[in-house]
Amino acid sequence: MDTEQIVRTFTDYYREHGHRRITGSTLLPDPGDPVLFTSAGMHPLTPYLEGRPHPLGRRLVNVQRCLRTTDLEEVGDSRHLTVFQMLGTWSLGDYEGSRSLDWAHRLLTEGLGVDPGLLHATVYGGGEQVGPDTESLRLWQERGVPVELTVDDNWWSNGPVGPCGPDSEIFLWSGDTPPRSTPTGDDRWVEVWNHVMMRHRRLDDGRLVPLPQRNVDTGLGLERLASLLQGRSSVFECDIFEPWRRTLPSLWPLDEPSFRVVWDHLRSAVVVVGDGIRPSNTGRGYVLRRLVRRLLTVLWREDSSRGVGDLPVELITHTSDHFRQDVDPGLVRGLLVEEERRFRQLLERGRNVLARPRFRGPLGEEDLAYLHDTHGLPRDLVTSLRGEGDPGTDGGGAVRP
Ligand code: ATP
Ligand code: MG
Ligand code: MG
Ligand code: MG
Repeated sequence: MDTEQIVRTFTDYYREHGHRRITGSTLLPDPGDPVLFTSAGMHPLTPYLEGRPHPLGRRLVNVQRCLRTTDLEEVGDSRHLTVFQMLGTWSLGDYEGSRSLDWAHRLLTEGLGVDPGLLHATVYGGGEQVGPDTESLRLWQERGVPVELTVDDNWWSNGPVGPCGPDSEIFLWSGDTPPRSTPTGDDRWVEVWNHVMMRHRRLDDGRLVPLPQRNVDTGLGLERLASLLQGRSSVFECDIFEPWRRTLPSLWPLDEPSFRVVWDHLRSAVVVVGDGIRPSNTGRGYVLRRLVRRLLTVLWREDSSRGVGDLPVELITHTSDHFRQDVDPGLVRGLLVEEERRFRQLLERGRNVLARPRFRGPLGEEDLAYLHDTHGLPRDLVTSLRGEGDPGTDGGGAVRP
């Protein structure tokens, strides 16, 4: 089943259960939202989780693109991408969590053909202010799904304050052998779907108060589910990455770990540009800039003549089509090429400045401030040029363009 079919099966299923499909937002949250990028499907819905009536009612379903800068360092493992799609459902003060889990179980096993024996759930085991989630526990026991109780891993919040609640996560077994152990005991259990019983609000002083209504907010990772349904053990092997796998190896012969970073970051950069962001030294533009620098650093490890000018436009088109973005692929590539030119220039300037006698010895705070303020050389770039890591990747060997 390819990703398009999964999306259709998912949204049809929830529509049959009374949910209205809402359009996913861009990666840019509403003005006034403290986060840089939408990092979960619930983001654009926060006011409605807090009680404002939604014009389309109390049952919603959508597909939301998300970007998690917090996952940048995880990219390259089998399950984390920087930009990914989250299939979401909401009960805005309507049905309860156990019904949501029941539907999820049916959709996975009956609608999407997952072997019920390959499922594991986790449930909130209770903490200081909120007791264990016995309702979810009972549902999973009735369905014969093994459950692990945790405390920290099963409490969802979007930040230190705001809407939050206990959650129940659904894991799929990705191993070649029969399932064993539990999600916290064996990482071949892959988390695919989180159901958050969004009933509380955390105040500044840490206290929890009830939200005006009892919501359920769920998020299912599309690329994770697709790869597992397609019998693959990493998100980089699902159908979405097929054109990348087919096209890029002949152009840039890299090893699999390097490819994963390059594919992920290029794809993420294309989507971020498609949502209107341009490279800059602050905020969202800086995230874009970091993505490009990190991928170039990996690309240049063996051969600094490689560059994003060679990126086939079909890959850009494939990505923006997948995210339903309307952008000129030539423009996107031009922007990446310009960013590459600036980075090369910056590296050259950095090397020249650092070759001066003044900077031969250990660098103090004052030197770092001077290099930054006068020469535009960020601290991480300076340390990596001194052989302490890759510029842009926060680790690894020095770059050699
Ligand atoms: P993990 O523990 O694996 O990092 P999470 O608990 O942070 O995942 P949630 O915040 O619960 O993830 O998000 C809901 C779903 O979105 C997850 O169950 C997963 O399927 C998917 N997801 C989360 N982060 C990523 C990512 N970086 N790349 C791809 N899919 C993701
Ligand atoms: Mg995570
Ligand atoms: Mg998790
Ligand atoms: Mg989770």
